[in-house]
Amino acid sequence: MELSVEKRKTIALTFDADWAPDYVLQHLFSLLNRHGIRATFFLTNPIEIEIPSNIEIGIHPDFRMTSPQGSDYNSIIDQMLTWFPNAGGVRNHCWHWDDSLYELFPAKGIEYDSSLFLPLHPGLLPTTAYGKLIRFPVWWTDNLHLYEKFALDRVSIPRFDTNGLKVMIFHPLKVYLNPSSFDAGKKSSILPTTNPTQEQLESLRNPGVGLDTFFNELCSYLTQNGNQSYTLGELKDEYLNDSFNSLDI
Ligand SMILES: [Zn+2]
Repeated sequence: MELSVEKRKTIALTFDADWAPDYVLQHLFSLLNRHGIRATFFLTNPIEIEIPSNIEIGIHPDFRMTSPQGSDYNSIIDQMLTWFPNAGGVRNHCWHWDDSLYELFPAKGIEYDSSLFLPLHPGLLPTTAYGKLIRFPVWWTDNLHLYEKFALDRVSIPRFDTNGLKVMIFHPLKVYLNPSSFDAGKKSSILPTTNPTQEQLESLRNPGVGLDTFFNELCSYLTQNGNQSYTLGELKDEYLNDSFNSLDI
């Protein structure tokens, strides 16, 4: 049986918070709200701003040796679920993966993962292996877009207009700083460790065409073309429903 995600262009906007300050997340929440777009945010740390109803929250664990979240899989996941008890999904920082996570995440109540990168592949589908965890491969990232020098002033990504799963990752701080090149974008990843003030970040913002321009173009494109963005939780439910139906055939 064909899955629903195969029959249409299934876009899912997602965001990896990577310790972005609250006002940066607020900037993104407001933009998405204005366009009526649903999205999934994978958070790295507790936040003190209200999460709007169009935003789904997942966790973004950092399993590297230097993680500020804990020292092993169990303690890091438990800590993050204390912060975000309703999180049903995960994306690991820096694409970290380990076979034991297939079992560990569902044991902690996490139903889906999106820590797998298959850039610009056509016809992507959710996958499962060794149990219940549903994995959503990622189709595009803002880093790849800048690296490949795709257009920033309009929506023009190869194979964008084809059917299949298109999970897209933006990094909020990167969007906020609006870089126009891959090298300029790289600088944003170390910024949160320096606790920049909003004024300091403002001075680093590119005033010309950049990633924020593209993000706004994409939001307008989605609303004007009737292409909604799904949350990964919605696609997870749909996948389970499709699988359930296929048992009847
Ligand atoms: Zn990350």
